[in-house]
This record gives sequence, C-alpha cells and structure tokens, in this order.
Amino acid sequence: MRIDVVSIFPEYLAPLKLSLLGRAQEDGLLQLDVHDLRDFAFDRHRTVDDTPYGGGAGMVMKPEPWGLALEAVLASLEAAERRPTLIVPSPAGEVFTQALAYELAEEPTLTFACGRYEGIDERVLEWAGERFRVRPVSLGDYVLNGGEVAVMAMVEAIGRLLPGVVGNPESLVEESHSDGLLEYPVYTKPSSWRGHDVPEVLLSGNHGLIARWRREQQLRRTAGRRPELLVGADASGFGREERAVLAELGYDVVDGRLERH
Ligand code: SAM
Repeated sequence: MRIDVVSIFPEYLAPLKLSLLGRAQEDGLLQLDVHDLRDFAFDRHRTVDDTPYGGGAGMVMKPEPWGLALEAVLASLEAAERRPTLIVPSPAGEVFTQALAYELAEEPTLTFACGRYEGIDERVLEWAGERFRVRPVSLGDYVLNGGEVAVMAMVEAIGRLLPGVVGNPESLVEESHSDGLLEYPVYTKPSSWRGHDVPEVLLSGNHGLIARWRREQQLRRTAGRRPELLVGADASGFGREERAVLAELGYDVVDGRLERH
C-alpha cells in the first residue's frame, strides 16, 4: 500500500518510521510519503492560512496550497488509481473504527490531508471530491490541534492489517473489535505475582476449556466496559453457552439481536 500525507508539520509523522510500520516500509509492504504543505505556498512567508470569511475566531487553511499539493499527489499516483481515497481528519467526520481500518486496508493508496487551525477551506473538499473519494474521518468526539495525531493513529491501525506486517496474523483475529467484542485478559509468567494468581484454567493445558473461558471473559468485559457494543448486536454467532452468559449479564436475544432486559 502507498500512503501520502500532506501536513504543515511533516516531522510530526516521524514515529511512523519506527517499529512494525518502519519495518513494513523497509520490507516494501508499505510506502509512506509525507509532503510539506508549505512547499506549495509561494509567497515570502509560505503562508497557508488566512482569516475566516464571515468573521469569528481563528484562521482557516487557504485553498491554493491545498489544491497544488493534492494535484501533485494525484500526478504521482499510478494512472490505474482513477479515484483514490482522500481521508480528511476532522472532528466533524465519521468516527474511525476497526471496521473502517479493515475497509481502508484494502485500498491500494490512501492520501491524508492534515488540517490545522479552524480547518481547511471547504472548497478544497468540494474540488477534491471530483478527483478523489473524499472521506472526512474523526478519531473520536474530542478536538485535537491538528490532523497529524489522528493520521498517526489511523495509519498505524490500517498499516498493521496489511499482509505480512504483523508477524503472526492470528493475533489480529482475536483482538478487541475484530468481532465486535473486547479482548479477554491476558497473562504471562510468573504464575503468581505479588499475591495475584493467573486464573487456574489458563494453566490447565485444556484448550477447549481455555477457549470457553476466554470467550466468557470477552462477553463479561464488553458488557462491563462497553455495553453499547452489545445492544443491537447480531446474535447469530452466539451459541447456547454464550447466550446463557449474556442472559446472566442482562442481555436477551430478540428477533436475532441482543437487547437489554
Ligand atoms: N474547528 C474545527 C471543528 O470544530 O470541527 C476543529 C479544528 S481542529 C482545532 C484542527 C484540525 O485538527 C482539524 O482540521 C482536523 O484536521 C484535526 N482534528 C481535530 N480533532 C480531530 C478529531 N477528533 N479527529 C480527527 N482530526 C481532528
């Protein structure tokens, strides 16, 4: 996969060169190109912002540098990518989820446009919509200073799903949000630490029992920490034992979906 990021702080994205994603780039699994928006601003101060029409606080990112930067990215993408995806991080976008990470990991290229100040002049999104598939995406319901931290989180979540990036692909299957539930608690040696013991079942060597215990823990943890993930969930994947645990936790199956009783 090829990823292009446009930002006024290219150095902000430096951590993406480390660890698993750094190795993925060395191995040719991921190409990450970070572009400085100011390289497309040609006045003496390389200005990228101006006051908002209609008044109000703060500054707005000017359209001209964005148009030139995105044109340059488009020109450098393979001709085969007719309408690449442009992610515009924004607290006013759809919320980023593991499901969206999986969807975006299928794309051959992704371009990210990091806003700053009060955001990017809306006409850039209109113009880009004729050339890219534009998706405003939010990291969550809070406001960051700029899009860079959001891009780092999204690129890491997407990048680790690319084939070959995570050593053991099994670890992607069981983790939180892969099947709508949170992951079960995990333990390592020693089996007893400061008076806290690893649950007996994990030492039993009985893989069937361990799998059942882990599944139950997933249900209990999800109900306790993120009950909204269960309400309305498709119940077809839950067997008799799981439904019994869910009933104990306060969830019934109604018309194939989970409801709180
Ligand atoms: N005035 C904007 C609003 O209220 O929607 C917020 C602008 S914010 C200070 C500056 C930039 O940070 C945004 O353009 C966006 O790129 C990024 N940003 C802030 N919060 C974000 C979030 N929750 N998810 C993704 N990007 C965010």
